[in-house]
Amino acid sequence: MVQSLAKGANFVYTYISAAYKMPLFLRSTTLNYIVIDLEWNQKIHRGSMRALGEIIEIGAVKMNEDMEILDELCIVVRPSVYNGMHPHVKKIVHLDEETLANGVLFEDAAKQLRDFCGEEFCFLSWGDEDASILMENLAYYGLELDFASYHYDMQRIYRQQKETEPGQNQRALAWCVEALGIEAQEGEYHSALTDARYAAQILKHLDMERAARDNSGRYYPNSRQIQSHFAKFRTHAQQGQGLPTCKFCGKPSRVILDMFSFTGNSMIVIAHCKDHGYFSSIFSRKRVRKKNPNALRGTASKQNKKQD
Ligand SMILES: [Zn+2]
Repeated sequence: MVQSLAKGANFVYTYISAAYKMPLFLRSTTLNYIVIDLEWNQKIHRGSMRALGEIIEIGAVKMNEDMEILDELCIVVRPSVYNGMHPHVKKIVHLDEETLANGVLFEDAAKQLRDFCGEEFCFLSWGDEDASILMENLAYYGLELDFASYHYDMQRIYRQQKETEPGQNQRALAWCVEALGIEAQEGEYHSALTDARYAAQILKHLDMERAARDNSGRYYPNSRQIQSHFAKFRTHAQQGQGLPTCKFCGKPSRVILDMFSFTGNSMIVIAHCKDHGYFSSIFSRKRVRKKNPNALRGTASKQNKKQD
């Protein structure tokens, strides 16, 4: 039952991807563009490892292929991972504690977002961070990942199609709004819906047929990233923990590791099976010794003492 459901979900995903690559005249249905912007909170005392960025606000604008705005969505998410806001986040987002406390749980927010997207869609956002943050949060709550894995980075598309200065590759949203002469939208920057509205206006200036030819739209690491993900997994997972295997086919050989996130003593791994799509696993993190691990060995510890 579960297996057939998952296969179904994977089929839908494959169909969505294939549909978009099809020439317009062959497609019977249309694709929605979901321009999304997220605000997230971070761990206050960040260690050397990448901690979960907890989504606190979701803003999205739905457009059709003629770039007409169909609908908007704004959801405040009640924080449940970290106590207190990171000072930097507190300074830039426009959400007070009362608003956050009245927000919805992430599971409900994710369902609202899923329903908002419609049948065939792809996500678009400014930069590549929103895509990973969304995947990370879905993984943290053990929710379906495939629906969020079809995602284009508009900052990159802007660079490919509009950039005139060589070497400029990370234009700020506000800079592009100014450069394209886009009129002021309701609300302030760093409010999820306002940023999504600005990005939606920028999208009207971009050629998505060309963008689909130039970029895969797949949330998929490159070979260099895959290598570093495997290395990180070996470094941070407790000894004896094998690589994650696909829950449906059980084949580790068909799985690539994609991303890691850390919360407390757990490590959340996002993996991708070539046949069954994205899935997440939780692993125990290796205990971090505060002292120099060499201190356990006699000679090394004496040497360390001399150095001290
Ligand atoms: Zn599989």
